[in-house]
Amino acid sequence: MSQNLNPYSKSISILKEVLGEEKFKAIEQYLHSYDGTQESVRPVAKYITIYWLGRAADRMILRTEGEDDIILSQVGDESVPTIVFRKFKAVYLREYMKLLRVQWFKYGSLIRDEVYKDSKYNFLKDCSISPGIAGEGKGAMHGRCMKCPVDVLMGATRARVTYNLASRFVGDSAYALTASFERRTGNSVDEISYTTIMITGRESEEEKRTGGLFSETLVKPGTLFVGKIVLTMLSPVELLYILWLLHRVTRVGARTSIWGTLEVEPIAMVADVFEVGTSYEAAEEMLRENDIAKAREKLLEYVKSVAFQTSSDIIELTKDTKEHIRSIDILNKELVKELWNNAKNYIKGIEEYLKSK
Ligand SMILES: [Zn+2]
Repeated sequence: MSQNLNPYSKSISILKEVLGEEKFKAIEQYLHSYDGTQESVRPVAKYITIYWLGRAADRMILRTEGEDDIILSQVGDESVPTIVFRKFKAVYLREYMKLLRVQWFKYGSLIRDEVYKDSKYNFLKDCSISPGIAGEGKGAMHGRCMKCPVDVLMGATRARVTYNLASRFVGDSAYALTASFERRTGNSVDEISYTTIMITGRESEEEKRTGGLFSETLVKPGTLFVGKIVLTMLSPVELLYILWLLHRVTRVGARTSIWGTLEVEPIAMVADVFEVGTSYEAAEEMLRENDIAKAREKLLEYVKSVAFQTSSDIIELTKDTKEHIRSIDILNKELVKELWNNAKNYIKGIEEYLKSK
């Protein structure tokens, strides 16, 4: 079924520029148009899969809810450090919020007057895209508006609203290609006595002495990771913003959930009516590789080997593409309007659907 992509003319012209006309044509049928009708929000099979490589730039601790500092997965005969997708996504969610906050500051009245045609609209009051209570840098959450481009793409729920927004930014855990981690043990020193005897209330001296003992597990610098992101029913303008974010946020971590730095590099993109491959399988194929150039080749080979008959051409995100993407003027007025109009129509489609029930 052909669809009208006209509301996305600005983002399409930029996508053609950065990816090349032919490659854009290859994925065009897997992009989606939201026009405010209920038909436009009905699930259809359109998936864009992006594979990325990561490299630990220094020692990393990947915080988990479990008792250890890192999660290990069994890949082949190796136990490798693993980054759960939620931790990875959290970084991009915060960055996307920051970007939209800037857009609202710059174009708030334009978005109100020309997109929503309702000057009372104020996203900043309602949504986490506004600066967090703990300050700009922390990005603390304080509610979701269920309407803005972040909520529409990344998913949100809220009490007393009759719909949920499913995340269309999902993916697999990322797996290290080598079992490179180390465990360190330390002993904390009492602040007053400067001894290792802690006032723990316990009886024996032995217990008091071990009160400050701790150990931590770290991923070694240089460790390579492979990961996968899946984007569903993505509109052209959303694809453009996601590509920009992925190329913009190249260092993940040094924050609360990932301590240390992970350098992230998107490698290949493929569109289909399914997700293409898994990062686990890719890790199996690439196991023990510690050279990033060779890892890149192997990853491209893997993606080619799992592409289906229905798959689009594989779009390699080369150095050239990357530079193009980084140079996009992400605050371009037309682009901003397309992005917010997309979110408005997305929600309108859901409201139309709810009305018809
Ligand atoms: Zn919002």
